[in-house]
Amino acid sequence: MAAIAAEKKLLLGGEWVETGDWSEVRSPYSGEVIGRVATAGAAEARRAVDAAEAAMREPLPAHKRAEILVRVAGSLGRRHEEVAQLISAEAGKPLKAARVEAARAMSTFTMAAVEARKLAGEMVPMDASQAGAGKLAFTLRLPIGVVGAISPFNFPLNLVAHKIAPALAAGCAVVLKPASQTPFSALLLAELETDAGLPPGWLNVLVGPASEIGDVLVEDPRVRAITFTGSGGVGWKLAERAPRKRVNLELGNATPVIVEADADLDDVATRLAANAFSFAGQSCISVQRIYVQRDAYDGLLARFVPKVESLVVGDPADESTDVGPLIDADARERVLAWIEEARDAGAEILTGGELEGDLIRPTVIANAAPELKVSCEEVFGPVCTVTPYDTLDEAIELANGTRYGLQAGIFTRDVKRALAAAQRLEFGGVTVNEAPTFRADQMPYGGVKDSGNTREGPAYAVRELTEERLVVLEL
Ligand code: NAP
Repeated sequence: MAAIAAEKKLLLGGEWVETGDWSEVRSPYSGEVIGRVATAGAAEARRAVDAAEAAMREPLPAHKRAEILVRVAGSLGRRHEEVAQLISAEAGKPLKAARVEAARAMSTFTMAAVEARKLAGEMVPMDASQAGAGKLAFTLRLPIGVVGAISPFNFPLNLVAHKIAPALAAGCAVVLKPASQTPFSALLLAELETDAGLPPGWLNVLVGPASEIGDVLVEDPRVRAITFTGSGGVGWKLAERAPRKRVNLELGNATPVIVEADADLDDVATRLAANAFSFAGQSCISVQRIYVQRDAYDGLLARFVPKVESLVVGDPADESTDVGPLIDADARERVLAWIEEARDAGAEILTGGELEGDLIRPTVIANAAPELKVSCEEVFGPVCTVTPYDTLDEAIELANGTRYGLQAGIFTRDVKRALAAAQRLEFGGVTVNEAPTFRADQMPYGGVKDSGNTREGPAYAVRELTEERLVVLEL
């Protein structure tokens, strides 16, 4: 599918601008050019911050912000198929999954509109102390200031939605830098925002060299918060370099799931096959490490491996495709090298482990030692490991045994064991009888340990992008 997005300019201070420099965006599947995009550098990034700061001098009332967000949700609904095709073309995401992402972005905007209308401070019980007696106090919840937003390639629409929509709901103007490989969904969203009546400067979208634009966001004191989704290496460095800003990080995971022997193994096999390989594993909560109680190990594999083998690998534009390409050749080579490392170390490749054309077949690895990369680092590819365990304590220790802590899951019919695990799994979220890849957009979503320091989901992100101001009245 070529030339889907054609030529796109950048949004800066309400104008669509060219910079004289263009970069090509290629299909991760076919390598064909699908369009080109104007590229910005530090000068445009500074102009974008100027525009955002100027916009915020005339605050938009909450009802206007909510109306705009609702209109964007409506446009996403009306243009659902076009949006899904665009996601699929630029990210190489199978159409089935791209349609889910497009629908989720609509939900993200809808939830953000609700938060815009609810945003309020709270009363402080002043007569609770002698010092406060005779006074009335409350807080106002105010926008933090200009927000710098940086998003990754793997959900090029909905993760941009999770940056823009809560920031606008909170009353903050945004300078957004989407991933260079997938700029078009972000630019389409910017178009929908301006069509919905967002005044100039409230949203600025820049595509270009990440470190140049990132440096402006880090160094310019008018940018009061940076909201980043992507890899830990980049994210934690941004936080280190901007100690006086709020830097909200949504990072990676090596997602574990525990399967107890009493679980419904047919159901588990179906859910895990879908959620270890959807978008070729390029989700931060793709199922990666499966720990199975020993009594159920053979039974689960007998169900799981055939389901994995029945996944359709191929062109993301094809309606039947389950597993498409990785984002680029470097990613493919890295994942293949990690599979080889496991094979060389004596792990057993139960299925996959090789290419089908240029695509990596869904790969299941048994007997992978904990120190192998496939066991302890984020694969971000169509690979999972399966490991038997004897006790729940052992399984929890294995699940907690990496530097990551975004989401984890457990399958069991025993509610006590499920809740015990939920209390002891060191993750931002734990799913029970559902794959840990599950996310509804209103949930508080985010990690502990190396996986991040914040929670997204509009209600939570809005809190992170506002500040409370105390007002005290002498009565
Ligand atoms: P990435 O390489 O860290 O890129 C993410 C964004 O950061 C891109 O826009 C990138 O720009 C930008 N960037 C790169 N270097 C930068 C710098 N020095 N300063 C400022 N910005 C910089 O991550 P990715 O490969 O796109 O995404 C995969 C990662 O994201 C995985 O680790 C995944 O787990 C994580 N992720 C986390 C969540 C979550 O919610 N927790 C969700 C999705 C993905 P360029 O594209 O121009 O390089």
